[in-house]
Amino acid sequence: MARYRFRDVRRFGPVQVATYTDRHGREAHTAACTAPGCGWSGDYLDRAAAELAATAHRCSPR
Ligand SMILES: [Zn+2]
Repeated sequence: MARYRFRDVRRFGPVQVATYTDRHGREAHTAACTAPGCGWSGDYLDRAAAELAATAHRCSPR
């Protein structure tokens, strides 16, 4: 989404974690899997939670 400015992007395996400022001006964190066909992603209030989710994610190929 173009209106979000991602920063501190880090990669954990196929999962990328980024911090951004949402439309309310609050800091938010997202984790998204970049593996083709996976589509897993999540939003978190804490950076640590996003990173934990990223490292715990296991792709389940179809
Ligand atoms: Zn995945």
